[in-house]
Amino acid sequence: MKYFSLNHNAPEVSFKEAVIKGLAPDRGLYFPKEIKALPDTFFQTIENLDNITIAYEAIKQFVGDEIPKANLKAILTDVLSFDFPIVTVEENIAALELYHGPTMAFKDVGARFMARCLGYFNKDKTDQDVTVLVATSGDTGGAVANGFLGVDGVDVTILYPSGKVSDIQEKQLTTLGQNITALEVDGTFDDCQTMVKEAFLDEDYHGKRQLTSANSINIARWLPQMFYFFFAYKALKSSNKKLVFSVPSGNYGNICAGMMAQKLGLPVHHFVTGTNANNIIPEYLNTGLYSTKPSVQTISNAMDVGAPSNFIRIQELHNNDIETLRLNLSGYSYTDTETTNAVESLFANNDYIADPHGAIGYLALKAYLKKENQIQGVFLETAHPIKFLPVMPKHIAKKIEIPVQIEQVLDKQKESIKISNYKQLKSYLLA
Ligand SMILES: *Cc1c(COP(=O)(O)O)cnc(C)c1O
Repeated sequence: MKYFSLNHNAPEVSFKEAVIKGLAPDRGLYFPKEIKALPDTFFQTIENLDNITIAYEAIKQFVGDEIPKANLKAILTDVLSFDFPIVTVEENIAALELYHGPTMAFKDVGARFMARCLGYFNKDKTDQDVTVLVATSGDTGGAVANGFLGVDGVDVTILYPSGKVSDIQEKQLTTLGQNITALEVDGTFDDCQTMVKEAFLDEDYHGKRQLTSANSINIARWLPQMFYFFFAYKALKSSNKKLVFSVPSGNYGNICAGMMAQKLGLPVHHFVTGTNANNIIPEYLNTGLYSTKPSVQTISNAMDVGAPSNFIRIQELHNNDIETLRLNLSGYSYTDTETTNAVESLFANNDYIADPHGAIGYLALKAYLKKENQIQGVFLETAHPIKFLPVMPKHIAKKIEIPVQIEQVLDKQKESIKISNYKQLKSYLLA
């Protein structure tokens, strides 16, 4: 499979090159050159297929012959070693829980898949080692660190804002050791991200270190997120209702992967995006004006994104036409108070504990369902509520049992290197 840059000013590349580079040299996101729908028989018989087979069928055309079938299946078996339960929350509304992986964030699947692809490409050690550089506001870093732990030939450097991630998130970032290093930045998440961007533009690393990103701009982190939508379809197919997915969104990688699944033929009736105060896309759908803005801090902080990087891929999937997009996507945004109220009401009325991101997905789905019936709605629950304890209502926080994945890191010793500017990052990377 060949990939082209959505800035249209860079050469086409293979899957391998796109994964190693992350971003095209013209700063554009990579996009597959052709997309072939899966045969009808695949959807007619999906209930007889296991998750690994479904995932393999969905991803194989994007990998092509660059990873042999047996290796790709082994990678998928390893990556998808946990459950993706559909939990009924109320009539016609289900939560798709994506948080049962090792760091309890949905990003586990993409991070693990990307790590294993890089590990495969590096197996003969003919290429130079790769350094994955990632800035995190909390959730991404843990998933990436865990996904890449112990992968040969790949070092991971994570920048996180000191004092601005939850204790659990910090432990997940700083206690792994081996090929993972946490840089604790005296600054904000935006400062971390600015430094990472500067590093990617800095020519001084050429020939010394191959830097790559593990954000959802990387196709190997983005595309495996398609699997969730196939799994949900398989679970809900027998209801014979139209399927609507509501996705709490920040960089729009997850929802865009759902749209890619739809492009492969998955019968999805409509997508809904829920956001916090960073409401760029709902605004765009309402007004037709696309205006990015500096991100504002909210309690659903994994979605505090003011310039959603994957939106350009969504436009590409909809012929760059807003009317086509409006037929397939609705968007709603919510304040922190509305979000907390939804967490409270889900607990009181539905006996369901949602994290703030999932609660926004739920609210957006409810808003959409006012317009249409005969729908089976699914909202994506993107993180375990334990990851966001400091912002959960106290009486609900008390009820959350600590999962084993989290318990395991709590006793471990934090190790980080403190930095406060780009010069320090650079001397660390070049050392
Ligand atoms: C990253 C993240 C999101 C947003 O996903 P995008 O693919 O960036 O839109 C939502 N919820 C949680 C918990 C996340 O970690």
